[in-house]
Amino acid sequence: MLEIVNVSRRFGDFQALNEVSLQVQAGEFFTLLGPSGCGKTTLLRSIAGFDTPDSGDILLDGKSLLALPPEKRPVHTVFQSYALFPHMTVADNIAFPLRMSGVGKAEIERRVADVLEDVRLPDKAKHFPEELSGGQRQRIAIARALVNRPRLLLLDEPLSALDAKLREQMQIELINLQKEVGITFVYVTHDQGEALALSHRIAVMNKGEVSQIDEPSLLYSSPKNRFVADFIGQCNLLDGKVVSCDGATTRITIDGLGELAVQSNPNIPFNVGDDCALTLRPEKIRLAKSVAPESDEVHFPGTVHDMLYLGDVTVYIIEVKRDGHPVLIEALLANSAPGRARLLDTGDAVEICWP
Ligand code: ATP
Repeated sequence: MLEIVNVSRRFGDFQALNEVSLQVQAGEFFTLLGPSGCGKTTLLRSIAGFDTPDSGDILLDGKSLLALPPEKRPVHTVFQSYALFPHMTVADNIAFPLRMSGVGKAEIERRVADVLEDVRLPDKAKHFPEELSGGQRQRIAIARALVNRPRLLLLDEPLSALDAKLREQMQIELINLQKEVGITFVYVTHDQGEALALSHRIAVMNKGEVSQIDEPSLLYSSPKNRFVADFIGQCNLLDGKVVSCDGATTRITIDGLGELAVQSNPNIPFNVGDDCALTLRPEKIRLAKSVAPESDEVHFPGTVHDMLYLGDVTVYIIEVKRDGHPVLIEALLANSAPGRARLLDTGDAVEICWP
C-alpha cells in the first residue's frame, strides 16, 4: 500500500536518508526503529509531507504523494507532544479536522462519539485537555487523527512522554485499536522493546539506511548484521574468523575461546578467512556451579565477574579464560525458585554451556 522508493535526504553535509526503500502492506502495524539521529522522523515527515526528499518517490496505492501538500494526503500524524488545542473541549478537538473538511453537524457528532468509543473515553467529550492524564490526552490525539479515517496513521514516538506502567498499558491499547479500526500504522520509536511488542514488521534503521526489515521474532533470532544483533535485545557478540565451511556447519575461531562449530546461516554466505561475530543471546546459556553438558553443547569453565539482581532475573557477567586471554560473557538466570538469586556470587567458579 505504501512504497518508499530510493528516498534520499541531505541536510547540508549530513546525509539523513540514503536510498531508503521499503514497502508497507495494507492493515500492517509497521515500525521504523533505530537510534537517535538515524533518520526515522525525517522519513515519517516525508510521508506526511512536512519534508521533501531530495530524490526518490513515496507512493500510496501506486500514486506518488510528493506533489500533494500535507493536508491533501490521506495521512494523519500523532506526535509525542499530543498537540491538542487547550481552549477546546475533547469533542471540539476531535471535531476540528471534520469541520475543516466541511462535514455536517449531525455527522460530526456521530463520528466523534464513535471514535471516542474506539479509544475507550466516551465520557470525556466535554472535558478540556488539562483535565486529562497524559495517557488520556494521547488517546484523544489518536482519536482526532483517526476521525477522518485516514488511509495511513503516522505515529512519532507517541508514548515516550508516559511513565513505564502507563506506556505498557497504552501499548496493549494501541495493538487492540489498530486491530479494531484496521488502519495501517507507521510507527516511529527508538525503543526496541516497544517495537518488538507492537509491530507486525520492523525496519531497523542505522545512519540513514535500512539495516533489516523483518517480523520481530526473526529480527531477534536471525539478525542479518552486527548492528541489528546488538540493537535488538541483549546479546554477546564474540569476534572471530571463519576456519572452514561445509554446507551445514561453519567452523570459527573466537578470540580467547578457540575453535567452535556453528550451524551455517544460509542467508549469510561465509568464506574461509572472513571476519565474523558469534551472536549469543544470554538466555540461551546454561550456567551453574557444576553442569553436565549435553552432547550438542560447548562447555567452558569461568568465574562470576559481576552480577545484577533485577527481580525476575539475575544478569551474570562470566569471565571465561581458555587460551590465556579473558572473555566476558553475559548470562541470565531466572529467579523463579526461592533463594535462587543467592545461588551464585561474585568470584564463584562456574561452568557455562550453550548449544
Ligand atoms: P530521534 O529519535 O532523535 O528523533 P531520528 O532517527 O528521528 O532521531 P531525524 O529526526 O530523522 O532522526 O534526524 C536525522 C538527522 O538529520 C539528525 O542528525 C538531525 O539532526 C538531522 N536533521 C533533521 N532535520 C533537520 C533539519 N531540518 N535541518 C538540519 N538537520 C536536520
